[in-house]
Amino acid sequence: MERTFVMVKPDGVQRGLVGEIISRLEKRGYKLVGLKMLRLTPEMAERHYAEHRGKPFFPGLISYITSGPVVAMVWEGKNVVAAVREMMGATDPQKALPGTIRGTYGIDIGRNVVHGSDSPATAEREINLFFSPEELVAYERNLDVWIYE
Ligand code: UDP
Repeated sequence: MERTFVMVKPDGVQRGLVGEIISRLEKRGYKLVGLKMLRLTPEMAERHYAEHRGKPFFPGLISYITSGPVVAMVWEGKNVVAAVREMMGATDPQKALPGTIRGTYGIDIGRNVVHGSDSPATAEREINLFFSPEELVAYERNLDVWIYE
């Protein structure tokens, strides 16, 4: 089964949106297999966002993402990487469709509440950056027969 890395960013934690974001993914049918709260160090933030190094928004992004605790998660399910991207909405909340997480809870691009991996390869890299293998939990859910045909 595919896995993706999801992170409630510091603004999402401060605004009390952790439960809401988890709830949306749970209700959709995805399975939570890893969860932790942590505060990113600047070094970890720069590794996570390495592809954006040198861009004008990079310093602001690093100070935003290290400004408070985040909730890091691994979610599992069929096509979960693309599905979470759709459920989050566009990077810029102004362009995110109503009903998406960012389109419901965000206004500015630099305070867009949530992160989700953009491809299965990125997901693998991000999961390994945040979680050790022992921190990911494999378990059966009896309700999967009601979610998957
Ligand atoms: N970001 C920003 N300004 C920009 C572009 C991006 O502050 O002009 C921030 C924003 O928090 C975004 C993150 O950098 O979520 C990573 O950008 P990316 O293009 O990878 O978007 P995402 O994958 O988060 O949708």
